[in-house]
Amino acid sequence: MLEKMEKGFDPEEVIEEFEALTKDAKRVQVETLKRILKENSEAEYLKKWGLDGKTDTESYSTCVPLVTHKDLEPLIQQIADGATHPILTGKPITTITLSSGTTEGKRKFVPFNDELTETTMQIYRTSFAYRNREFPIGNGKALSFIYGSKQFKTKGGLLAGTATSNVYRSAQFKKTMKDMQTPCCSPDEVIFGPDFHQSLYCHLLCGLIFRDEIQVISSTFAHSIVHSFRSFELVWEELCSDIKTGTLSTRITVPTIRTAMAKILKPNAELAYKIHEKCLSLSNWYGLIEELFPSVKYIYGIMTGSMEPYLKKLRHYAGGIPLLSADYGSSEGWIGANVNPTRPPEMATFAVLPHIGYFEFIPLRDAGPLGRIEPRPVGLTDVHVGEEYEVVVTNFAGLYRYRLGDVVKVVGFHNSTPELQFICRKDIMPAINIDKNTEKDLQLSVEAAAKLLAAEKLEVVDFTSQVDLSSDPGHYVIFWEVSGNASDEVFKECCNCIDSAFVDAGYVSSRKVQAIGPLELKILKRGTFQKILDHYVGLGCTLNQFKMPRCVGPVNDRVLRILCDNVVKSYISSAFG
Ligand code: AMP
Repeated sequence: MLEKMEKGFDPEEVIEEFEALTKDAKRVQVETLKRILKENSEAEYLKKWGLDGKTDTESYSTCVPLVTHKDLEPLIQQIADGATHPILTGKPITTITLSSGTTEGKRKFVPFNDELTETTMQIYRTSFAYRNREFPIGNGKALSFIYGSKQFKTKGGLLAGTATSNVYRSAQFKKTMKDMQTPCCSPDEVIFGPDFHQSLYCHLLCGLIFRDEIQVISSTFAHSIVHSFRSFELVWEELCSDIKTGTLSTRITVPTIRTAMAKILKPNAELAYKIHEKCLSLSNWYGLIEELFPSVKYIYGIMTGSMEPYLKKLRHYAGGIPLLSADYGSSEGWIGANVNPTRPPEMATFAVLPHIGYFEFIPLRDAGPLGRIEPRPVGLTDVHVGEEYEVVVTNFAGLYRYRLGDVVKVVGFHNSTPELQFICRKDIMPAINIDKNTEKDLQLSVEAAAKLLAAEKLEVVDFTSQVDLSSDPGHYVIFWEVSGNASDEVFKECCNCIDSAFVDAGYVSSRKVQAIGPLELKILKRGTFQKILDHYVGLGCTLNQFKMPRCVGPVNDRVLRILCDNVVKSYISSAFG
């Protein structure tokens, strides 16, 4: 493997390998589980469940229970605290990753090892190979809005950071990006800088300096790309001035970043003038990316799930440049690659790589009305098209039958491996009565109401929600930041529209009998969501990982306070009388 990496990789070979693996997905899964269990046969966790060296799928699912992060937390904590005995894995864990924690408001520790870096590269290479068939790129660079989080040592001396940072720091990452002809145009000092505002500014500056060579604009999640170009709107003149004079803005104070940028930034009045003219010629920044980067072939990042609300804005900035949705994974490991890159992001699917983990799927149809029926997961190749499932992962880094908390729908098969569509995170919206609204339902309701704003040439910059149980009956509160001012009539109409656009029968019937109170729409001051982002960054989350929490629970009191302190107007729905 190492030798193959040294020479670079041949996309056609990668495709051939993926095709062979997916034609034989059932056997590959059996083999993968065997490898995981053999490599970790000394782990106390596996011994405790009495596997006794058995590595077959039946014994595994009979002996080892389904778990959530909460169940494993004490064990992961022991590892982080420096326990030296083999707790979850045969070989000791030396690195811990921190999940973003933005959906639940609490960051989670997850074990990490080199196998996870390698599976990340396998996913990157696989989707690149298919992408490159449809959208070939030449030699060039990528403007990648990526950020390495600060790493720290746990009590036991293990290195801890976000999964993406662990990957960006690895030698394999640089090599793979080079092989894919998309090395990042920014120096490491910018990627790993201590202040993301300064890093973002310099990413933009590097992108402009290398504008003719930029082939791809990317980030892990689409939100970060939109956020970057929203920032561009505010600092473009300063960027032009830096390029004109060859002097970096005084807003950049980190010495390592200044030194690294000094090697790249030279006075170039002609370039500064060109960019300045282009920016002035745009109408409301439509087609900004296309204008700034003449060689760009596509924009790449995760655009599904909680990223869908940003697509409208991203399309606006992109102009005619295609948007290609990236793969599906988590801090706990990767799951599937987007091998159909020509599909629009809303339709993106992920073909599961059968050799990077052992996957099971809990059918949601048999969960029972309150999800109380004992879950009975099925294997990777036993899933049915059209059904929704919760994903269960067994990986090479000590997670066994781990419920990821994501809901996916099987929409087809790539050979014998399923193609998944990401639906939503599970249990994001707590029930008030018999309602079962999902994150996706909320997104669709907000989208429906946002159409009323579009008529006023306004847009929803971002949104979230809260379940308010302080009065009886409880009700939903939706928080909106809007790009400008609309009249009370329009906002009132939006409020009614959100309330009546929820499709869940439990919600609708509860609203009709007032078992759930009228929905409230609260309009926020401009910049509130930036404050929320800054709050998460302050906690150590990086922009790469950031996903706006779509429902803020009481444990997330700091975010609730930011929201409540910034409300400027409030409306109560009269949709149900
Ligand atoms: P993190 O816990 O910060 O590593 O984030 C991982 C989570 O991000 C996953 O469990 C999903 O909920 C979400 N996610 C990752 N990839 C995708 C994708 N392609 N589409 C939608 N959501 C995704």
